[in-house]
Amino acid sequence: MLEIKNLHARIAEDGTEIIRGLNLTVKAGEVAAIMGPNGSGKSTLSYILSGREDYEVTEGEILFNGENILELDPAERAAKGVFLAFQYPVEIPGVATMQFLKVAMNEQRKARGEEELSTPDFMRRVKEAAGELKINPDMLKRPLNVGFSGGEKKRAEILQMALLEPKLCILDETDSGLDIDALKIVADGVNALKRPDRATIVITHYQRLLDYIVPDTVHVLYKGQIVKTGDKNLALELEANGYADITGQAA
Ligand code: ADP
Ligand code: MG
Ligand code: MG
Repeated sequence: MLEIKNLHARIAEDGTEIIRGLNLTVKAGEVAAIMGPNGSGKSTLSYILSGREDYEVTEGEILFNGENILELDPAERAAKGVFLAFQYPVEIPGVATMQFLKVAMNEQRKARGEEELSTPDFMRRVKEAAGELKINPDMLKRPLNVGFSGGEKKRAEILQMALLEPKLCILDETDSGLDIDALKIVADGVNALKRPDRATIVITHYQRLLDYIVPDTVHVLYKGQIVKTGDKNLALELEANGYADITGQAA
């Protein structure tokens, strides 16, 4: 589903190379974890996948279902099913979460050349998805993220992901700040949304998220390259030994 070949990318503003010859393959149905020390380029990779303009790809390709997506803008990528969860959720005062979700869904449908959802159809979809993710629909009447707890923000994010029915989900979890409840919400969401035709990339610094999401593959990103690939046991090894074997420095 996703094939990244010899990717090189730099910060557009100052030309610093961050991604330095990265290769990665993720199959349909797979949950892939990307781990690595702080500053390795994990977030940069997720931004490049989503098409953010602050980065310039200088070499290599990103094939999504065989198509090179580097030529596509973020909206076109989203229409093809690439979804990047937000690390820092935006607050939208005055707009009920429900309304925000409806606009997001209809924007995506428009980009795909599909008709707008009727309100009853939309309500049915939201109810289904909220039920599957065990989300209390009362939360959806409140403005998006305004006064939400960490856990509620995660619920809103996962619900948005479910409703947009992505083919490739990318979750970049911040290196700190998620409590265990929020981690479990993210993990339960990822597990519930696993489908044979959907791939998920979970980016995380710490192994503890992977206590709840069992990844099919684990990749270590260091200095802009994937330097090690394995199964879930690799995450456990990293938890036990740290990144010292990879960085060549004492933990
Ligand atoms: P990680 O997510 O693995 O911690 P990042 O992708 O956030 O790593 O960052 C990789 C490196 O690139 C860091 O040294 C970071 O400071 C730098 N970097 C990333 N984006 C920018 C940017 N827009 N401007 C300046 N430096 C950046
Ligand atoms: Mg970081
Ligand atoms: Mg990061």
